[in-house]
Amino acid sequence: MASINGNWFHSRSSSNLDELLVARTLVLESQKNEYVGFGWSSDRRGNQKMYDFAGAANIQPSTMQTKIRTMIRYGFIRDGNQCPLIWTRMGNLWNDLYTVGNYTASKKIYELTLSISLAIYAFNNSPAQYSINPANGEMPLKFLLNNLDKSNSISLRDFKALVDGQTTRVGDNASYWKTDIINSGLFEENSGRLFYTGEYLQFVNEIKAFNPNTLLNDDDWQAIRDNPLIDISPFKTSISEIFESIMQEQNIEDQITDDILTAPLVDVVAEQEEVAIPEVDILSNDTRFINSTRRVRNATWSIRVKKRYNYICVVPNCDVTGKLFVDAAHVKPDAIPEGNIPHRAHMLNGLCLCKHCHIAFDKGYFSLNDDYKIITSSKFSNIVDQNLKQVILSSDNNIIKNRNDGKFPLVEFVRYHRENKFKR
Ligand SMILES: [Zn+2]
Repeated sequence: MASINGNWFHSRSSSNLDELLVARTLVLESQKNEYVGFGWSSDRRGNQKMYDFAGAANIQPSTMQTKIRTMIRYGFIRDGNQCPLIWTRMGNLWNDLYTVGNYTASKKIYELTLSISLAIYAFNNSPAQYSINPANGEMPLKFLLNNLDKSNSISLRDFKALVDGQTTRVGDNASYWKTDIINSGLFEENSGRLFYTGEYLQFVNEIKAFNPNTLLNDDDWQAIRDNPLIDISPFKTSISEIFESIMQEQNIEDQITDDILTAPLVDVVAEQEEVAIPEVDILSNDTRFINSTRRVRNATWSIRVKKRYNYICVVPNCDVTGKLFVDAAHVKPDAIPEGNIPHRAHMLNGLCLCKHCHIAFDKGYFSLNDDYKIITSSKFSNIVDQNLKQVILSSDNNIIKNRNDGKFPLVEFVRYHRENKFKR
């Protein structure tokens, strides 16, 4: 009889929220300067830094290494032997949702991440046993789904035979597999049987019928696992629909606040909203917009910023208003790499400016002091447009208009503009 024959990831690990919370602590810790470049997977013996790093999560180094590897295989963290540890798209989403306190949505993302991971991992007879590339062997979840009876279930005994049939550690693997397929939300246990719950029906049907594209190599599959929404992802459409329903049910869009790192969340919302994004943003000839994900994210960010200001130019004496006539301007420029506070998709790094004021601001003819009052450049004489010049010069020392929630940009971003862009 065929078998799943898989030492599912690690005999001592099973996925649960506690494990993921430990990984979350480690991801945060790994971003500290003292750990950047540190090889978390290296030899543990006498390695004080290894103990310090593991100590942050209150675990032993060996346990830490196991947990990180597991979270890599589950698709929460990207492959990499050095700190900082980096979330995948799914891991980042999970972390964002967990951070804003939307535990229902973060649980769904957690389940979906496990489901995707279970779906694409393949097992083979090589010493490595498992492969990220499903063209290399049996796909366990596909195999299991195709072995369900008419009531979409399998007895625990048959399940054990299916999992442990050809392995030496009989009894062990089945329990780990069972935990994971239940944690994925795809199965539930009842009266000695495992039942498919009906979750992600389209996705599940696709998995059952799936034949991996042999032209995709390991790197491609790595990329798919890092972001299951990329173009080459075979489950892109169904996963995208799952995202959409999670976001609608949970009103995630309303929870994109100013205070959290929302770039991945904004990316996903942006992908869902792509059809609604005005052409004028997409057709920008600005080279920064070449990367499509970033372009879409910027467009979504831009719409949000403009909405926040009710589509009114913030320059006090400028009376330009209206969707077609205003832009969202980055205070700290988008082209600058992300710093301590990621600014590219930060809602408090945006100002609503009319097209003319936007150009003058980007060129540094005016900036803001820490009290959000306009400061104007002595080089203003270079500007030909008399009307624009007058609007801005007459606004000197006046506070800019604020957002409809009363907020102003972060002072850190304002300072960046004043110190690096402003023409003194
Ligand atoms: Zn203006």
